Amino acid sequence: MPTWPEGARSSKLPSGMFNPMPEGVIAGYRADTGLDVMGIKKPVYAIASGYVDYAEAGHTLWTGPRDTPYCVRIELDSPIPYGNRKITHIYYAHLSELAHVQPEGKTPRTRIEGGDRIGTSGVANGSWHLHLGLLLDGEVEQYWGTFLLEDEIRKVMGDYRKGARLPKE
Ligand SMILES: [Zn+2]
Repeated sequence: MPTWPEGARSSKLPSGMFNPMPEGVIAGYRADTGLDVMGIKKPVYAIASGYVDYAEAGHTLWTGPRDTPYCVRIELDSPIPYGNRKITHIYYAHLSELAHVQPEGKTPRTRIEGGDRIGTSGVANGSWHLHLGLLLDGEVEQYWGTFLLEDEIRKVMGDYRKGARLPKE
């Protein structure tokens, strides 16, 4: 299924996370349940290592007729401390392509290293973007569970401001 060269990877950002979408532009809106990173058909990468909970169509409530359908959730090997809580899972939505398909509940789960390519950005709500969610304390039952908001994610990723462009690799 993937149409890109094997072994494509992203580099670490100064925050220690791997770049989720090189050259993506930080956008988003206040109190969104994730960070929107704008870019048309951009490669999307794992920001840290872990195991894939699912990589398939569905898993979002925000799907319109023209939206691209794929979502990926990864359980991190090493939760990222966040105050007295921990970021335990990463959620990617609106992808147009996947590197590996994995239905929810399938075992063994796909292993993914930080910086591995997981897919390609897609479109939702009429705009090309990646929706990137950071989920807390393993609370993932209801699609998103407990999550950081848009401004909190920008801070954790490295104090990015709206309109900033992520590095090229
Ligand atoms: Zn969003």
